[in-house]
Amino acid sequence: MDQPRTYFAHILSARGVAVLVTNHQVQPLPVRPRKGNRTSGIVCSACGEQFLVTVDSCARTTALRVRYFVVGLVLLALSAFLLWLTFGVGMQPDGPDLDLDPDNASWYGYTGITGVLLPIFGLGLLLHSRRYDGVGKLRRIGANGRPSKLVPGHKLLPNK
Ligand SMILES: [Zn+2]
Repeated sequence: MDQPRTYFAHILSARGVAVLVTNHQVQPLPVRPRKGNRTSGIVCSACGEQFLVTVDSCARTTALRVRYFVVGLVLLALSAFLLWLTFGVGMQPDGPDLDLDPDNASWYGYTGITGVLLPIFGLGLLLHSRRYDGVGKLRRIGANGRPSKLVPGHKLLPNK
């Protein structure tokens, strides 16, 4: 676990239309620090360009995974509760009449939309918690010595 599962990849070639076949030259990322996170330099073994990447410690990676997981679960539970409120209360025969009370109508619309968006965010966070590898965005050090978000021909390759 000291070594991130994600790899740094230099894209050699990409071809194909329906199925993209990409050739990479991969190299491992810097080892995780003991505490917190650390930004280290990588020199691409294929072309010699310099990059920066931030890698989290094991503890920090696990903590963030747990946090994403818990927030995802809370969002799912909240959306289930809101759906229950919207439909469970709204479908009662002696429930409030929507036509007579505009405030209630907007409340139902609000909870209905939230009931759709929240589970999407919740599921997204749950998936993210599984995939999260404690590796930040890749930055390329340009000719002017400043890191740039543009990393043409290179990427971080998650190892499934
Ligand atoms: Zn390269």
